[in-house]
Amino acid sequence: CGIVAYVGHREACPIIIKGLKRLEYRGYDSAGVALMNGALNIYKKKGKVADLEAAISEEDTHGHIGMGHTRWATHGEPNDENAHPHYSTSKGIAIIHNGIIENYASLKQLLIQKGHTFHSETDSEVFINLIEDIFQNNDCSLPEAVRLAMHEVVGAYAIVVLSKESPNQLIAARKGSPLVVGVGKGEYFLASDATPIIEYTNEVVYLNDYELAVIKDGELDIRTKEDVKQTPYVQTLEM
Ligand code: GLU
Repeated sequence: CGIVAYVGHREACPIIIKGLKRLEYRGYDSAGVALMNGALNIYKKKGKVADLEAAISEEDTHGHIGMGHTRWATHGEPNDENAHPHYSTSKGIAIIHNGIIENYASLKQLLIQKGHTFHSETDSEVFINLIEDIFQNNDCSLPEAVRLAMHEVVGAYAIVVLSKESPNQLIAARKGSPLVVGVGKGEYFLASDATPIIEYTNEVVYLNDYELAVIKDGELDIRTKEDVKQTPYVQTLEM
């Protein structure tokens, strides 16, 4: 339902929690964050963003890259396990997802046969394991694996992917669910709408359907799912 992600010089966690609160108006049943600080740490819970915030108050949440999600359940009841982020079998890659993957059941069967394990009833967990499967079986980068996975999933999605192997990289993609990139000075934001972003920057890029954005080393690279590089169209929002 709601997506917020950050990479830059500031502390990521407070920006993400605040952003998720700004998206509460959309409605949701669970909330979660993935934060990178040496390890890929995932905290998620059924309930309010404030409950998640209380649950992580004793944790070391320092770090400059991370992502958060508020879930409005479509596949699997609202509970802690079904909350996002979801992670791959190897636990090296995490995803937050808005939308519905319509062919998740057949993909899940295939992935189980290939040895992937699942902890939730969500369609979203299938998406991240599909990405992992492509990543492991093709000699390709993780963004490339996400791009190839976009050819296999049917449905609607806005996703953000974070991985241990590239701890400074955010990957985002969309089809049918909105996703906007906030462009700051040496920092980037991702969100399902501009509300969590506008207090930091009014320069935004709205992703189009079937586009993949890779944010790394201060660069924003946008490609179509056919791997055609796009020139980001930066819009200035009225504050
Ligand atoms: N289909 C996903 C789920 O049920 C995402 C729902 C959402 O957009 O929040 O977990």
